[in-house]
Amino acid sequence: MRIDSHAHGHAVNLNGSPKEYIARCKEEGVDAVVLIAKPDPLFASKKRMGSFVIPVAIIDIDEAKKDDIHRLFDQGAAGIKFICPNHPYGDERYFPFYKAIKERDGVAVFHTGYLMHDPEYTRYRVKLDDMRTSHIDTIERWVPHLRVLMAHFGNPHWEECWKMAWAHPTVYADLSGGTAIHRSMLMWREMFAPNGALMSDCLGKVCFGSDTQYFGEAHRFGPYIDFYERLFNEVGAPEELREKVNAGNILSLFKLEGL
Ligand SMILES: [Zn+2]
Repeated sequence: MRIDSHAHGHAVNLNGSPKEYIARCKEEGVDAVVLIAKPDPLFASKKRMGSFVIPVAIIDIDEAKKDDIHRLFDQGAAGIKFICPNHPYGDERYFPFYKAIKERDGVAVFHTGYLMHDPEYTRYRVKLDDMRTSHIDTIERWVPHLRVLMAHFGNPHWEECWKMAWAHPTVYADLSGGTAIHRSMLMWREMFAPNGALMSDCLGKVCFGSDTQYFGEAHRFGPYIDFYERLFNEVGAPEELREKVNAGNILSLFKLEGL
């Protein structure tokens, strides 16, 4: 089984039946997705796709109120996604959000590291530093055991993300996005199997993820499946560990018995 921990797209755009679409995804290697979207299309997608979609709602971290978090969980969100903050993720003004997520037994998904810029530099006026994974360290100290998924492995502060995932029991990371899969396998091998010795407890905190679009005509998650499989082979990951990374970690993060 494989769950994509970082998926985009709206199922309202899907041509054809959800059943056929899900069968096609399974055939291509993905059994379910953590869908990250704004609330309306997110809940519409969940309604249409059932257990194929694990819904994570994007909120504006600087505009939202604590009650918005509760409302999203009431509507069926399994997690909340944070991105593009005006202040560091670890700033105490955001703590009420994290506490609310913990109260509702949900997952906090953070965009971590570099955020794409448009060619004219007109959007996303943000400081990369505010989205570093070191802020997750602060958050865990104030909201202990908050379940966190760090998207994109802190690109390019890989080492820092590695430490956060290793140090905090409820903090996980993915290698989704456009950069991690282009770095050398030598680097990743050293990250998870330093000097050739596999660190199962560290690779065991990683989730399969692509950051690609779903519900269209073609899929782009294939290269991510290849990349993760190559990584498993490079470090000699046993079957049980591969299963954790591919699906087990997402099931336990979101407290799902199965799909
Ligand atoms: Zn994304």
